[in-house]
Amino acid sequence: MSSPDSGPLLAVDGLNKRFPIGGGLFRKPTDFIHAVDDVSFRMSAGESLGLVGESGCGKTTVGKLLVKLLEPTDGSITYRFATPAMDPHLAGPVETSNIRSRQLGAFRRQVQMIFQDPYESMNPRRTVYDTIAEPLVVQGIGHVQERLDRVSEILDLVGLTPAGTFLFRRPHELSGGQRQRVAIARALVIGPSFVVADEPTSMLDVSSRTAIMLLMQELAERLGIAYLYITHDLAVARYMCHRIAVMYLGKIVELADTEELLRNPLHPYTRALLSAVPSPDPTRRREPPDILGDLSLPVNPPQRCRFYDRCPLATDLCRREPHPPPEEKAPGHWVACHLA
Ligand code: SF4
Repeated sequence: MSSPDSGPLLAVDGLNKRFPIGGGLFRKPTDFIHAVDDVSFRMSAGESLGLVGESGCGKTTVGKLLVKLLEPTDGSITYRFATPAMDPHLAGPVETSNIRSRQLGAFRRQVQMIFQDPYESMNPRRTVYDTIAEPLVVQGIGHVQERLDRVSEILDLVGLTPAGTFLFRRPHELSGGQRQRVAIARALVIGPSFVVADEPTSMLDVSSRTAIMLLMQELAERLGIAYLYITHDLAVARYMCHRIAVMYLGKIVELADTEELLRNPLHPYTRALLSAVPSPDPTRRREPPDILGDLSLPVNPPQRCRFYDRCPLATDLCRREPHPPPEEKAPGHWVACHLA
């Protein structure tokens, strides 16, 4: 699913990740979970793309592949960063599978991840300063006073002010929203171009959630950061993202500009997800197709459409034919369905 953009920040092509199950010391695994299956998309600098789907659909695996916490089974992830002069190791297109250890530090300066549970991703014994300064220390950036200045500056930026009152607190002395602000500060402290945000607001109460979403939006615009925003909630993606990709059992089944996707959803799964989003207009009723059964793990999935077993519109054609390839039905609006 390519965009007309001639020089994307990120190009993902035919990405696959399979996890073996079963097997043992002397026995090869015969079964594989196809967590990510032939996923392709592009992202521009400063763009936010929502990756939306139910828990277990493979969206976090995509995020971890993009930040190189996992390696793909097949396919490629290529970045083209705009700051090669600062990072000579990253001049030109950089394919993540070719990154060697001497380039890894430069890559980590450009690509960061914010996790769902800020409490779990922080060491309870370390102060806010230790947590945020850690990437600077690992990368050997600045001396002690410069790091302190930079951490204070980033605390201001994420709204933890006055910075001096937060620097030496520990995670248990912070609210959930404050902890997530620290996690955001840690991801941004070395000035990345691209951030994967994995359900960053799902563990927060409603008021903290709104505040964090506003903050992330403001920072993305101010700092020109591109986000892959992973969420199960289409309403959140609608609020946060320029474009939305809907994922089902390892496949992207629909991708479009946010307003286009919400106005004109073409895939039965997208329509079902949308029916769960409250409409601000009570006179506008959507009649979604009811999806059948529950999400199952994609263990050695059959070739046919991944959504076949739950699709209320499935036909004999869908049973016989392989999973439909994505087709561009309107400019920038891609869908993978035989009947769309
Ligand atoms: Fe449903 Fe067939 Fe479309 Fe798959 S291809 S989503 S089974 S209608």
